[in-house]
Amino acid sequence: MSDVQGHIMYTFATSVQDAIAATGEFRAGGTDLQERLRSRNANGSLIDIFGVEGLDDITYADDGVTIGAMTTLSTVGDHQQLQRDYPALTLPAQTLATPQTRHVATMGGVLCQRTRCAYYRHPELGCPKKGNADVCPSRQGDHHLGVVFDIGPCVYPHPSSIGCALLTYDATVQINGAQTLSVADLFGSGKDARSDHTLKPGQMITAIQLPVATQHERASYVRQMSRAWAEWPLVEVVVRLIMDNNTIKDAKVGIGGVANIPLRLTEVEQALIGTEASEESLSRAAKVATERCTPLPGTEYKVPMVVAGVLEALEQALANESGGQLEL
Ligand SMILES: Cc1cc2nc3c(=O)[nH]c(=O)nc-3n(C[C@H](O)[C@H](O)[C@H](O)COP(=O)(O)OP(=O)(O)OC[C@H]3O[C@@H](n4cnc5c(N)ncnc54)[C@H](O)[C@@H]3O)c2cc1C
Ligand code: SF4
Repeated sequence: MSDVQGHIMYTFATSVQDAIAATGEFRAGGTDLQERLRSRNANGSLIDIFGVEGLDDITYADDGVTIGAMTTLSTVGDHQQLQRDYPALTLPAQTLATPQTRHVATMGGVLCQRTRCAYYRHPELGCPKKGNADVCPSRQGDHHLGVVFDIGPCVYPHPSSIGCALLTYDATVQINGAQTLSVADLFGSGKDARSDHTLKPGQMITAIQLPVATQHERASYVRQMSRAWAEWPLVEVVVRLIMDNNTIKDAKVGIGGVANIPLRLTEVEQALIGTEASEESLSRAAKVATERCTPLPGTEYKVPMVVAGVLEALEQALANESGGQLEL
């Protein structure tokens, strides 16, 4: 069903088929999209997928768990079985943004949200990501919230905390109810300034799939922020550790706020795996986190934050045997 409200053309989809056949931008919880409509960064054709049935289930199977794309962040964060099995996912789902936002924001939307760069969000300014400029104005201008891993033309950090967490699980997304794509491929290489993900128009995430849970994983999520609430982190780190007594049997480390895509710090993981957990080994591994850092003049301050954030997250994960329930 379509309707024109003001100058906005809405299609209210009730099935995945309706949604992918329509023209426009998907609207899930709307927490990112509504703000972009206000700043004229959405073109006014919307496909409302709120009424699409069957996209908000959490289903366990022999090969892992499937989370419907319309499942809200608060549902994921509060889910006790997920807290036990996938704590590195439920911790950020309980923490990011505000309770109000988490109540309506969806798993599909948190992965596909657009950059928070002020140049991009400004209705009058040009930017390669918007497609109305060739050169990034932030690189030469104000980039104090920008990247420290300068891997592509866009120098604003990717906003998705859940993207970081899902990378540490080698999760995949299901597109249009069929084809699957790794979360790493969803974000791409960061070399293309034109988008924040690699989906094409008409491609809708219908579910997120995580592999079978690892028993007794220890997880943590650390956000370093300029204010306590309702802000995107300057640096955020997700850690998953599997221990064999005091030996680190496996380690996964995701980092956000530092590159134009969420990143895995595989060099830190390699520095940890097989070592005895100690103050020295964790500190040594945390320092490795900056090996690939290429800060901009205005983001050098984030380099020590990367080391501190990784170290704090490793220490918290090691101490945390209680799973993915925040102790408030
Ligand atoms: C104060 C504040 C602080 C925040 N802090 C954080 C933070 O620390 N970390 C973080 O990750 N986020 C943060 N957010 C952002 C928030 O998580 C996102 O706005 C939200 O997750 C978007 O989800 P949504 O369902 O509302 O998406 P919508 O606003 O509906 O959509 C966002 C985008 O995703 C696309 N989309 C939505 N669903 C699908 C789908 N199924 N398939 C394909 N495309 C889709 C839409 O077309 C649109 O382009 C913050 C938000 C606020 C307001
Ligand atoms: S290309 Fe990226 S960093 Fe540059 S202005 Fe656009 S969104 Fe901002």
